[in-house]
Amino acid sequence: MNKTIYFIANWKMNGNHNSINEIERVSNFFRKNTIYKFKKIIFCPPSNLLSSFSKKIKSKLIDFGAQDISKINLHNGPYTGQLSAKMLKDSGANYVIIGHSEKRLIDEDLKTIKEKINIALKNKLKIIFCIGENLLQKNKGSSLNVLKRQILSSLDKKKINFNNLIIAYEPIWSIGTGIVPSNNYLDKIYRNLKKFIKEKYKVNSPIMLYGGSVTTDNVVTLGKIGLISGFLIGGASLKSTSFIKIIKNYFK
Ligand code: PEP
Repeated sequence: MNKTIYFIANWKMNGNHNSINEIERVSNFFRKNTIYKFKKIIFCPPSNLLSSFSKKIKSKLIDFGAQDISKINLHNGPYTGQLSAKMLKDSGANYVIIGHSEKRLIDEDLKTIKEKINIALKNKLKIIFCIGENLLQKNKGSSLNVLKRQILSSLDKKKINFNNLIIAYEPIWSIGTGIVPSNNYLDKIYRNLKKFIKEKYKVNSPIMLYGGSVTTDNVVTLGKIGLISGFLIGGASLKSTSFIKIIKNYFK
């Protein structure tokens, strides 16, 4: 069976109104090159661009996600600076990134992440849930414990729906550094997490992605890890040329 492979572009704090050209190029390329069937492309631009981009790009080949959601469980109200799940959906987002290590550093603790996940679920936004250990934790040999704790503390057994959840494993020491874990290391992580999720949540096939310095070159090697269902891509997703090449090289 051919499974769907996700290619999610996390633009972080990058892009402007002209950046829609990059998404249009990706859309046009895959409209013309129909051999790349088993893929799902999701762009997560900054929220100020979400609405105009999703209105202009009306293609079944491209979906949109937000990079954050308010932890306030209301549609509207006197909460300066907050964007509710309903507002994100109105802007065209079907997905939302929660738990990214860069957000955890700023203002997302474990409790906040759990709240945001439950709000997203309630509002039928699909979740791109990021987990990852830092270099110190990796060097101490505690990567798996850290990841399991992040999963258990954020995914409520009674509420979580794995059909609406994508888990992106992003080792913090790999994000933006050019350093990518070996396939052996990754294989061990995914095998263990899959077993753990089966034990704790009774789910057989969670969707699990890899994120961290994915490039047009290393995607070929990373693509050999059978337990991965795709990639969360930061820097290399900003330009259509590299983003398209990553997808092409994966399917080569
Ligand atoms: C990310 O921040 O989600 C990410 C994977 O970034 P990069 O690809 O730039 O390492």
